[in-house]
Amino acid sequence: MPELPEVETVVQTLKAQLGHATFTHVDVLWDNIIAQDLEEFKTRIQNQTIQNYGRKGKYLLFELDDYMLIAHLRMEGKFYIQMPEEPINKHIHVIFHLKDGRELRYHDTRKFGRMSIRPKRQDLNYEELANTGPDALDENVTSLELYHKWHQKRIRLKHMLLDQRFLAGIGNIYADEICFSCQLHPATLVTHLSKKDFENICFHTRRILKGAVQAGGTTIRSYTSSLGVHGRFQLELKVHQRVHQPCICCQTPIKKIQLEGRGTYFCPMCQKRK
Ligand SMILES: [Zn+2]
Repeated sequence: MPELPEVETVVQTLKAQLGHATFTHVDVLWDNIIAQDLEEFKTRIQNQTIQNYGRKGKYLLFELDDYMLIAHLRMEGKFYIQMPEEPINKHIHVIFHLKDGRELRYHDTRKFGRMSIRPKRQDLNYEELANTGPDALDENVTSLELYHKWHQKRIRLKHMLLDQRFLAGIGNIYADEICFSCQLHPATLVTHLSKKDFENICFHTRRILKGAVQAGGTTIRSYTSSLGVHGRFQLELKVHQRVHQPCICCQTPIKKIQLEGRGTYFCPMCQKRK
């Protein structure tokens, strides 16, 4: 599943490729991708120009003249920019027709992605974002605020990191990396974390995600219409998917356990349960 850095890369790539493109109309080949009345979605997109690009957590936000196009890629969603003569494969479910003749095609092998078009509002209070907390890169959110809001919850650290109401945009891969950098066992109860721990979690979350965004930014230039917009930066990963490999700090083999139903990687020596 794309996490914050990958979604940001998609947003920046589309911004560079599409700019202020205007939609003429849309064809929907798989209705369930659209999370609202289908006719409403189709009517609203007509003749709307993209004014701005944004993101909150893992949601892509296309600001139009009068509306906000909100999309979530979920497991496998990708956008392609293609010409009408290019073949439409069976995983293309939505085709946005652009005034300049190109097409923005939504491709999703799992069909879990969702999109909708809502009347534009300044406060971003869209129903889609109801369970989305502050964006993980939003520097206005302090670790102290997060401490007060979360430290009394009887949940494990990994669970808190994956909860999009905590810091939106973190997924399974970066949650493991954040725990490693903070030297915290992912199963640590949040009630055992100190203010200092929350400070470290905020610091490393932003450091890791920003680093990944920068790594992703380098792929933008090589993007072509025949490639999906994606990109994961696993070369940078220190624990995730490194089971049995030596820890980069202490050489202890990395362990894998199941937590919250997700494969979770950590160093049993460096990451202590508090
Ligand atoms: Zn270690």
